[in-house]
Amino acid sequence: MSDNKIPYKIYLTEDEMPKAWYNLRADMKNKPAPLLNPGTHQPLTAEELSPIFCEELVQQELDDTTPFIEIPEEIRNFYKMYRPSPLVRAYCLEEKLGTPAKIYYKFEGNNTSGSHKLNSAIAQAYYAKKQGLKGVTTETGAGQWGTALSMACSYFDLDCKVYMVKVSYEQKPFRREVMRTYGATVTPSPSETTEVGRKILAAHPGTTGSLGCAISEAVEVATKNPGYRYVLGSVLNQVLLHQSVIGLETKAAMDKYGIKPDIIIGCAGGGSNLGGLIAPFMGEKLRGEADYRIIAVEPASCPSFTRGTFSYDFCDTGMICPLAKMYTLGSDFIPSANHAGGLRFHGMSSTLSQLYHDGYMEATSVEQTSVFEAAEMFARVEGILPAPESSHAIRAAIDEAMKCKETGEEKTIVFGLTGTGYFDLVAYQKYNDGEMSDYIPSDAEIAESIAKLPKVD
Ligand SMILES: *Cc1c(COP(=O)(O)O)cnc(C)c1O
Repeated sequence: MSDNKIPYKIYLTEDEMPKAWYNLRADMKNKPAPLLNPGTHQPLTAEELSPIFCEELVQQELDDTTPFIEIPEEIRNFYKMYRPSPLVRAYCLEEKLGTPAKIYYKFEGNNTSGSHKLNSAIAQAYYAKKQGLKGVTTETGAGQWGTALSMACSYFDLDCKVYMVKVSYEQKPFRREVMRTYGATVTPSPSETTEVGRKILAAHPGTTGSLGCAISEAVEVATKNPGYRYVLGSVLNQVLLHQSVIGLETKAAMDKYGIKPDIIIGCAGGGSNLGGLIAPFMGEKLRGEADYRIIAVEPASCPSFTRGTFSYDFCDTGMICPLAKMYTLGSDFIPSANHAGGLRFHGMSSTLSQLYHDGYMEATSVEQTSVFEAAEMFARVEGILPAPESSHAIRAAIDEAMKCKETGEEKTIVFGLTGTGYFDLVAYQKYNDGEMSDYIPSDAEIAESIAKLPKVD
């Protein structure tokens, strides 16, 4: 099909939307390593996971073999309110760059939460409701996950308790108010409301918090309150499963126009949007049906893939959560307070970690000033104000497109535009005022937290 027939935006019809999620693990020869009990270092059983997570989500977490899992109709109906999300041809960005590359982005920011996180939040709330629970607890960093979960909980009439990383709680009062509008209770973390929060505050007075410590607090509250379970917005296998809706739609939209990507790019915090975007493409790659370059982009200030160690580690700072085998900087690692761009988690999805370890994907790290430079250029030509997290992917996509300009190659690049940046204006302000700087942790700093990894053999 000739290029000029490809519309600016490719939408699917409701009928063309995926009816099942795709479980990438089913096609992996080397499965992601199982979660371990932090006490015994034995693989966690469904029985042990059930006090923390909803039953169906435990099943999904442990299922390494079923390739497709039906999306319940209630969830599909909710999806229809804000999906399918458009696959956009970035004609204006291509022109601005003067590149022969064809650039596409899958835009997940068209809902009130402003990100892809709603795709998993609604699924997790649905299963909690189905199990007859009273409510759920969670952590949120920049606030997108908390907002998404608040929306999902209000839809299914569940109570929602959110522990929000303190630096974001202070920098993003408007996020907090959106969550409260949807009925959630929001507490800055670390807080005095939990045992683990009090311990962290005593050990690191004045800490601006981290996702890892907010997770510890949320898990403690879920396990101490009957009728509550903990839900997590990234990292876990179940979250990657739900996010596969992004990749399935992307692939269906591309297939509709006979487009085959050469390079697929996504930002990586805990790995959920990237895992979802690449899922069906990686499936083809694993089955030997097609080949793609797949690139994870992370911040230079929190470089789990590019400078971390592939090892068992805690998912939380409080060291009460299961151990996951992943690329990690150590659960003690807290990114510099100067870091404004999200993606602050010390670890990475076990599934993506295994795929990276086995050479199925690449990773790169970028500095935040260059990320905001890319964000600004993108906003000016494509119109959308991108989230700083998403802008990591924009940076890498622009860099790849510029390489094509040098070589004259007409590569097709697709990247995940995970969300909008309306609540990140303090960070944009810093950039606009020329006050943003880059912080790259030293080898010694990373070695210090890596040295505290749990010993698992
Ligand atoms: C949470 C978030 C991310 C990073 O999380 P992943 O689990 O790595 O996808 C990226 N972009 C936006 C907009 C987010 O809200």
